[in-house]
Amino acid sequence: MIYASYHNHTPLCRHATGSPEEYVEEAIRGGLKIFGFSDHTPYLYDGDYYPYGVKMLPQEIEQYVDTVLTLKQKYASDITIHLGLEMEYYPKFFDRLLEFLAPYPLEYFLLAQHNLGNDMLPDGTPDVSSFTPTTDEKQLIRYVDQCIEAMNTGKFIYFAHPDVFHFTGPDEVYQEHMRRLCIAAKKIDLPLEINLQGVTEDRFYPNPLFWSLASEIGNKVVLGADAHRTSRVIDLPAIKKAEEMAARLHLQLLTDIEDRF
Ligand SMILES: [Zn+2]
Ligand SMILES: [Zn+2]
Repeated sequence: MIYASYHNHTPLCRHATGSPEEYVEEAIRGGLKIFGFSDHTPYLYDGDYYPYGVKMLPQEIEQYVDTVLTLKQKYASDITIHLGLEMEYYPKFFDRLLEFLAPYPLEYFLLAQHNLGNDMLPDGTPDVSSFTPTTDEKQLIRYVDQCIEAMNTGKFIYFAHPDVFHFTGPDEVYQEHMRRLCIAAKKIDLPLEINLQGVTEDRFYPNPLFWSLASEIGNKVVLGADAHRTSRVIDLPAIKKAEEMAARLHLQLLTDIEDRF
């Protein structure tokens, strides 16, 4: 059973349902003692580009922070609530983002590299999505290089679905590059997340090939609900499956990461 959960969304990202308060009540009902909100961060791009339907808008950060802090206070005797964000590392806009977020009492950031490069190309069109199946080794290398650079900023508390890049080429090529990612995470002691949304929706991640590598390298591992609806706050069948995989592969599953705050 898990008692700490750090990867949960709110409707501000526009692809999640259920009020944040319902998530908290569900978490308490499910026996969680620690519950973190980590909705998709806003980003401050150049020009007109904005991935609507994916992230909250910059002007919504205030509302997000207020909502979570209000719940934190209201439910303080029942559960510890943390205020976080899930974010990609887009080098061109990353410092600008950190500066924008600095005034807010955010406690943690989860790394999740959904897209490559700076999300958009210089002409304002989207760059490669990590979800798009590809056999192109160059794109896999881009993903891994970008993730290593991201981890080494030291800004992240853990790495959400590190296996989200959908490489469909040869296993040896996948392993060669993902090994570098796992080694880089190990070097800075950054936990990697087995994503329960992927488990329950039978997505291409968690990728067993990736998790065999993580086992071999000795990475620390956490489970992440990635809840986008109340019924996923505690998803027992998914938790059970993930725990079975972790046991089978002898992964070092952490029960919480409170010592990292
Ligand atoms: Zn999402
Ligand atoms: Zn997420």
